[in-house]
Amino acid sequence: MTQRPYNLYAGPAILPLEVIQKVQSELLDFSGTGLSILEISHRSKEFDKTIKEAEADLRTLFGVSDDYYVLFLQGGASTQFGMIPMNFLNGGVADYVDTGAWAKKAIQDGKRFGTVNISASSSDKNYNYIPSSLKLTPNAKYVHITSNETIGGIQWQKYPDTGSVPLVCDMSSDVMSRRVDVSKFDLIYAGAQKNIGPSGVTLVIIKKSLVETCPDNIATMLNYKTHVKNPSLYNTPTTFGIYVIGLVMKWMLKRGGLKEIESTNFEKARILYELLDTSDYYIPIAEKDSRSIMNVTFKLKTPELDEKFVSESKKAGFLGLKGHRSVGGCRASIYNAFPLEGVMKLIEFMKKFEKENS
Ligand SMILES: *Cc1c(COP(=O)(O)O)cnc(C)c1O
Repeated sequence: MTQRPYNLYAGPAILPLEVIQKVQSELLDFSGTGLSILEISHRSKEFDKTIKEAEADLRTLFGVSDDYYVLFLQGGASTQFGMIPMNFLNGGVADYVDTGAWAKKAIQDGKRFGTVNISASSSDKNYNYIPSSLKLTPNAKYVHITSNETIGGIQWQKYPDTGSVPLVCDMSSDVMSRRVDVSKFDLIYAGAQKNIGPSGVTLVIIKKSLVETCPDNIATMLNYKTHVKNPSLYNTPTTFGIYVIGLVMKWMLKRGGLKEIESTNFEKARILYELLDTSDYYIPIAEKDSRSIMNVTFKLKTPELDEKFVSESKKAGFLGLKGHRSVGGCRASIYNAFPLEGVMKLIEFMKKFEKENS
């Protein structure tokens, strides 16, 4: 096989090559059925095994206890922006931390179902840092944070302590990229398409005690109770997506689990930020103590140079380096499946580009 391009897209994003090859090899005959995974019932025993194993492996890898349900839902993380306040806000007050584009979308939906208190915001610096102190409302229904702002390239290094107030977290772009104490959270959600699978599936990890508080007067599909009662199988789920998540979980286990994945991710980010810090050609965008290990944002001296960098990098086989239009510059999304060796190659390219264009 010829060398594949280096995939630095923000999402949908890179999947392990091994996983794609496994999908290819099983596509015509899934699990001895003689049929493809795309063609069999979500109630079949073959799919039942697939979804149960995906959940079990995910629980093992991420350390999810029996106090939580693990759900594979649809509608993307964006549906969770609405489902969360619909189920848990109900005219009350919730605290939201405004850290960027994704947090803002969550806030927008929160406001439709109750009072949103902005506990802190980093909008004063175009969201290039995670606020360090929060103004929390006593007895809020929950506190909502965005673990990693995919667009700005900032990430919580240490999650806030919210006491007895439930902590809700959008982990779409850094879920299972590092070890996390899941027991600190009441609800974790993540679109699968950045770190753990293809688009179309949303992982929801929700505390059992929180589900008990869901109201009955909301649409069936938007009630967590529905999906808990019929474990992710109330209606036809994204069977293919759940299957691929299962394969990604096996890949992660084979790699040595989250400890190993995390240590590779730290190293990838470390060497890339080291280049940004030691060069005066490339300028890092996020503040040092808020930097994301998943989405590394930087810029060159002028927008024209940014543009040239992106276009040359593409020719050299690095795809997806253009920054989001709201931030400008460049962004390297180095999710779990992006190899350390690929980051080294990117650094090599960046050094060469600097030499040829300064
Ligand atoms: C991509 C992303 C989303 C949106 O996910 P969808 O699955 O497209 O709805 C939400 N939050 C964060 C942090 C993201 O990176």
